[in-house]
Amino acid sequence: MASPDPAGVTVTFAGSGDAFGSGGRFQACIHLRPAGVAPVLLDCGATSLPALRRCGLDPGGIAAVFVSHLHGDHFGGLPFLILDAQFAGRTAPLVVAGPAGTGQRLAEAMECMFPGSSRIRRRFAVEVTELRPGGSATVAAGVRAQAFEASHPSGAPALILRLTLGGRIIAYTGDTAWTHAIAGAAAGADLLIAEAYYWDKAVPHHLRHADLASRRGELTARRTVLTHMSADMLGRQQQACCETAHDGLVLQL
Ligand SMILES: [Zn+2]
Ligand SMILES: [Zn+2]
Repeated sequence: MASPDPAGVTVTFAGSGDAFGSGGRFQACIHLRPAGVAPVLLDCGATSLPALRRCGLDPGGIAAVFVSHLHGDHFGGLPFLILDAQFAGRTAPLVVAGPAGTGQRLAEAMECMFPGSSRIRRRFAVEVTELRPGGSATVAAGVRAQAFEASHPSGAPALILRLTLGGRIIAYTGDTAWTHAIAGAAAGADLLIAEAYYWDKAVPHHLRHADLASRRGELTARRTVLTHMSADMLGRQQQACCETAHDGLVLQL
């Protein structure tokens, strides 16, 4: 009898929304559970604690958070995640991997929302790893992260991420205008998670469905799932070129 595949990743879209709650959705928060090791997050928008709890996922079990860029709907949940872990008595370190400036912006966000919280003694370490476009790092629990330069002003270089974990490759655009770096990050990946903010309206600094549909030939990921959709795009999901995410969607890779 064949032994079961020891690899694999369970992907849960805890939050699949844009910054503004379109469709009643939570902000970006994608939970990745590789077989046999601790889960990690791709982005942690401000609404991520309720998003995770609604899916029955334990925020305290998350080993690392990979942040695509430093906008509130992608990293604004970190102060809540860290404070919740502090009150819950967490002892395992939490890795936060994001663009240059992540450490400073996280401390500023914590001080702004909960004064004194960035300097308090905790029983667990928050280990910040800053990723550079063109670079790669083994960050936590055997997760390898490669970063590519996105086109999305956010006070720091925004990243497109390519994670290797559980024997699978997952690429994530974060927010970005079309750039050929998306094709590089997604090359041969098991899953591409792509922003599709608008259907075809020209909005700066974001991906549209039209951008992805016209470049399908360049995108060689085995599977593509669209996320971060505005009300305009949500209304046209049935016509989309790819699968679309919703809060609570679970994929097995
Ligand atoms: Zn966003
Ligand atoms: Zn953004």
